[in-house]
Amino acid sequence: MARVAIVGCKRIQDQLCIACEKCLKAIRKREGEFARYKDDDELELVALGNCGDCPGLIMPKVVLMKEIAGTLDEDFDIIHLGTCVVKAKKTGKCPLDFEQIAGLIKENLGKEVVVGTHNY
Ligand code: SF4
Ligand code: SF4
Repeated sequence: MARVAIVGCKRIQDQLCIACEKCLKAIRKREGEFARYKDDDELELVALGNCGDCPGLIMPKVVLMKEIAGTLDEDFDIIHLGTCVVKAKKTGKCPLDFEQIAGLIKENLGKEVVVGTHNY
């Protein structure tokens, strides 16, 4: 079973990409970056949050997400950075360094990071 959390861009989430319907569709249909779970019957979205805003407060935010998931006994294994975050990096001035973040998350929280979610 794959248990995932999604971290979106606070500036885009529910502003330019409404209600996170695109990621939810991709999860249901195992499309985009969720195609990697296509043979996995149980793909669970445990948490859906945002980066904590510019200039990239993502580490304290994911630490809090993990703590709350732990108190609910609903921990996640993998963090996907939303396509909104990827777009913010490509087209805006998002300061996040994905490689550095993935390393910090792995080192401090023991979670894998996947960059991206849907392709819609
Ligand atoms: S890319 Fe995904 S996480 Fe980001 S705002 Fe859109 S649906 Fe939500
Ligand atoms: S631009 Fe980057 S740091 Fe700023 S809110 Fe979006 S994802 Fe977060």
